Amino acid sequence: MAEPKRPEVDVDVVVVGAGGGGLAAALAATDGGATAVVLEKEERPGGNTAASTGSVPGGGSRWQAEAGIEDSPARLAADLLRQSGPHEAEDLVRVLAEASAPLVEWLVDTHQVDLRLITDYKHVGHSVPRLHAPPSRKGHALVADLLRAAKAADVEVLTHTPVERLLVENGAVRGVVVSGNRSGTYTLRSHAVVLAANGFGADPEMIARFAPQASGLEYLGAHGSTGEAVRWLLDLGATMANESAFQGYAAVASPHGSITSWTTVEHGGILIDGNGARIGDESVGYSGFAAEVSRVPGPVHVVFDTRIRDSVAAHEEEFADLLAAGGVKEAADVNALAAAIGVDGTQLARTLEIARAAAEGSAPDPAGRTEWGWGPLRRPYAAVRAIPALFHTQGGVRVDEHARVLGPDGPVPGVYAAGGVAAGVSGREGGSGYSSGNGLLAALGLGMLAGRHAAAVLG
Ligand SMILES: Cc1cc2nc3c(=O)[nH]c(=O)nc-3n(C[C@H](O)[C@H](O)[C@H](O)COP(=O)(O)OP(=O)(O)OC[C@H]3O[C@@H](n4cnc5c(N)ncnc54)[C@H](O)[C@@H]3O)c2cc1C
Repeated sequence: MAEPKRPEVDVDVVVVGAGGGGLAAALAATDGGATAVVLEKEERPGGNTAASTGSVPGGGSRWQAEAGIEDSPARLAADLLRQSGPHEAEDLVRVLAEASAPLVEWLVDTHQVDLRLITDYKHVGHSVPRLHAPPSRKGHALVADLLRAAKAADVEVLTHTPVERLLVENGAVRGVVVSGNRSGTYTLRSHAVVLAANGFGADPEMIARFAPQASGLEYLGAHGSTGEAVRWLLDLGATMANESAFQGYAAVASPHGSITSWTTVEHGGILIDGNGARIGDESVGYSGFAAEVSRVPGPVHVVFDTRIRDSVAAHEEEFADLLAAGGVKEAADVNALAAAIGVDGTQLARTLEIARAAAEGSAPDPAGRTEWGWGPLRRPYAAVRAIPALFHTQGGVRVDEHARVLGPDGPVPGVYAAGGVAAGVSGREGGSGYSSGNGLLAALGLGMLAGRHAAAVLG
């Protein structure tokens, strides 16, 4: 019997969004022999991926084996579930854990993306070092490598190209409608559409509706995360999972706007309020702790010491930049520190004394913290003024193991979701279920799976 004729298309795979998820999807599709184009509404590609530290988990990668680190997809899945607690996308945890090491190896080996295993510290939620990041630990470097690879694979990345809606015929997605760019409104027909447009962190109405716990946090992710792709899919009958989860960040340097590396805290640093008192147990992680910090009026301070400052600056470019920009204060002793950050010296001395006793194990920490990294802080001290923030949403539509969007009757033909458009694996609600790397794992991992599947079904 003759094969049914395929519809005429402009391109095999249309990818919406030129962040990590979209670029990975396009690369996987072209690896599989399909043609792909990436449409980006902003002036520049990169989205939240460019703002990130570019850290991607790989559970059982060959670099871990070389470093003598025992890891596996099962261990990664167990770690993620321990951090997140039970949730509505647990199948996806196993899918992404299985995909994680092959994902990192594919990016490095096939597309020469420069990712290196981070061994100098473990990240929030992970029982072994398993995050792989650009040497600079800057998402810009990851995006630059992905764009270079896309160019080499003949993938066109069109910026200033906002997708207005999906082209839907008889319940199947057949392409997209672009509107508002210099070429006016036009339709692009395709066999598959991969929605890699991230979540809805920049849309206050969707935040209020789906993730009200994040309403009090200032959004510091990319402007493009306005949630339209999620809304198109809900209109098609898709349903949300883990809709109230998000990645927060407890300590964005203020007014500098860059991350105060959480390594400062993992090595023994603490967060204090405007009176010089501890805020709580920082070891819940930078995302979970954001909610606690948001309950404190006014900016807070991250307090650590100059050993920690110098070590982190040597490994993390963004922190080194913050230091160079004058964002890290140094103080010879407690009184100088109190004066430098404007808090009560007596209270600060008491706070540091209690933390010292807990860190050296001579008294339990009243806040319950048991992990103190390098132990008690020592003079000279260092401190960063900080505010809590929302980085991205982790709730999205349900997808299957190929990143196909699920409607009421199974996969909706022709459409995939990656990254923030899809349900995340960081628990049902709030920021505390987020493990480091969950954002990029879902973006790059689902992007890779979507692109591969979209190309495979073309034959
Ligand atoms: C400061 C910061 C640090 C972070 N650090 C990490 C980290 O180290 N590891 C980690 O795993 N996660 C991290 N995250 C989260 C991570 O950046 C995101 O989860 C991830 O980048 C999402 O990738 P994405 O491809 O889905 O979306 P993005 O990278 O945001 O890309 C989506 C793109 O789609 C475009 N778009 C949206 N709508 C449309 C439309 N209608 N038409 C055309 N284009 C559209 C957007 O403009 C955007 O460019 C961090 C986030 C922030 C803000």
